[in-house]
Amino acid sequence: MFHSTLFKLGFTCKYKHFMRLYNEAKKAQYMPYDVLKQNQEKKLRKLILFAYHNVPYYHKLFKKLNLKPGDIRTIEDLQKLPILTKEIIKKNQKDFIPNNLSKQKYINASTGGSTGQPLQYRISIEDALLDVVLFYVNCEQAGYRLGDKMAVFAGSQLVPSTKSSLVKKIKGWIINTKYFSSFDMSDRYLDKVVEDLNRFKPRFLRGYASSVFLLAKHIADKNLELKFEVKGVFTSSEVLFDYQRALIEEVFNCKVFDQYSQNDGGASMFECEKHNGLHIDMFRSIVEVVDEEGKQLDRGTGHILATSLHNYAMPFIRYDTGDMGILSDKKCDCGREMPLMEKIIGRVSDFIYAPNGNRIHGEFFSHIFRSLDGGYMRFSWVKEFQIVQRKINELTIKIVPDDARNINDSDLNKLKEIILNRTGEMDITIEIVDKIERTKAGKWKFIINEVKS
Ligand SMILES: [Zn+2]
Repeated sequence: MFHSTLFKLGFTCKYKHFMRLYNEAKKAQYMPYDVLKQNQEKKLRKLILFAYHNVPYYHKLFKKLNLKPGDIRTIEDLQKLPILTKEIIKKNQKDFIPNNLSKQKYINASTGGSTGQPLQYRISIEDALLDVVLFYVNCEQAGYRLGDKMAVFAGSQLVPSTKSSLVKKIKGWIINTKYFSSFDMSDRYLDKVVEDLNRFKPRFLRGYASSVFLLAKHIADKNLELKFEVKGVFTSSEVLFDYQRALIEEVFNCKVFDQYSQNDGGASMFECEKHNGLHIDMFRSIVEVVDEEGKQLDRGTGHILATSLHNYAMPFIRYDTGDMGILSDKKCDCGREMPLMEKIIGRVSDFIYAPNGNRIHGEFFSHIFRSLDGGYMRFSWVKEFQIVQRKINELTIKIVPDDARNINDSDLNKLKEIILNRTGEMDITIEIVDKIERTKAGKWKFIINEVKS
């Protein structure tokens, strides 16, 4: 009770609309699909009108396409507009400055960008707040209530940026949350994390999929005792693999709830208590899944586009998130009518391109190292791995072993053989390393592709 009050008070002091947005978003979860879509389209028409009159880029674009704001009234109408790529935004930065920017409240942000230049953008305070609001609303699927104790394992993407660690601690205390870094995942650090957790006794865990997985693996490998009970684990920011989910659920004896959110486009998705995939939020943004030509799909694999309905500081319409997903046409039995994303496949750059023309998804590699069916159990000594492709005919496999004594040549030869079977002729180098570098945001990229990204 104390922490719930403190939490609400803390957020309301900083953002006076927090509770209003929270209650609105919560209510929206069970609204009929048609009503949600009507609300989206109402917000869309307002955004289009604003963009046409205030944002030079869109004014020119509409003129060029001979369109008027009235031509974009529905989600289907969006297909009259081209896909907005990061390259287009970078080339036209100045044209994305709205005329009335000085009157708006916003913050400057940038995308993680593990390869290439990150994208600089502005996000309105309301849109950034909605990201937080939706996270907490979606946590309720696991029984979370505002103010419940939570431990977070992540880099900059999930950890509030503040220069002082004292301020961070006080803020954390107010919302009953303790933060752990995802940059250092050494055994020594993880031992200390488990000690801290046993003292803190969180009821919920949150973090990058790889960070929570490495923590769970550490606890399992060392058979460490947990002196607290976890009700739910929230993963996000990276693709969550089945082997990761299975081990996390086993170690913490609770369900994993995967979430997807990105601030640059405002897209947000979450797993409900039925775990049938990720529900696509219809409150904050419009999410489209499209084919190569930008045509909307009602099911199947495609590119994920997002249009935030609340970011007037830098409106992105049909923004290419760079992620791909499989849209489902099934209804969830939880009562929510928001559509389901069966799976997020990851970024377009999460593929290896073989000289024989094959496009090999990263999951192929995670399957080799982490297969649950036991087919490749010989690689269980691989603690972390990373596949790097710098040239079309070259592949480097970096491996962090759990113990250098466990490496043997026959395993490594077998590994090359499995990969070559799939890729055709290629130069494969295996590097045994001490650690895999994290990205600037503290994320673990298990595929680095410099050939196509
Ligand atoms: Zn559901």
